[in-house]
Amino acid sequence: MLVSGLEIAAVLFDLDNTLVDRDDAVRNLARKMYTGVGVTDSAISEESFVAEFVRIDAGGTIPDKRVQMTAVASELSTRVNDADQLLDWWNREYPAAFSLGRPTRLTLGGLIEISIPWGIVTNGSPLQQTVIESLGLHQVASSVVVSSLVELRKPDRRIFELGMSLVAGEIAAGKFLFVGDNPTADIVGASDAGMKTAWVSSGREWAVSGSKPDVVIESVGELTRMISV
Ligand SMILES: [Mg+2]
Repeated sequence: MLVSGLEIAAVLFDLDNTLVDRDDAVRNLARKMYTGVGVTDSAISEESFVAEFVRIDAGGTIPDKRVQMTAVASELSTRVNDADQLLDWWNREYPAAFSLGRPTRLTLGGLIEISIPWGIVTNGSPLQQTVIESLGLHQVASSVVVSSLVELRKPDRRIFELGMSLVAGEIAAGKFLFVGDNPTADIVGASDAGMKTAWVSSGREWAVSGSKPDVVIESVGELTRMISV
């Protein structure tokens, strides 16, 4: 197939804020916590609680979620204030907070229809695998690679090479398209591994000098209209 003029035979996708809207999922979780395990008093509005929860989450950059839940308990005065209990709650509720948008489903379905193999390469905890399974993506993707389970992290080129070999070992790196939102981990990393790249900008400007994505898209759904067979 051609993607914006590039000859592409296979695709790898990032997960968070590429295939799924993690920011939205974390807001869903915060709302669920506000009304569920809850707050000690009504001094904080749901809106501020959500905003503070999102701030503490820091875009998912805190590797130890127990540390994060300790901060949630102390800073947000949750009714349940035991970090381990909150951590159990997070692990249980997190995967269900995600959904797959219709435009993304159409893009993935379109690739399957034209027999273009695709897979997922994501950084993060083993919980990423649970998110992928709860969305049913493991049944339709050719492969799924979660950094913590293979002990390699993007932008390490070896994790891209692993993803490519699991999707289609016979296809050259230059015929692979990597689609991701993180300029360094996804785009620079995949490019260093020899892949073509599509950056999910979500309206941002590209700010890494010395390299740039082959394709810029606002969201994954936009790929559908850029593909020709
Ligand atoms: Mg991402």
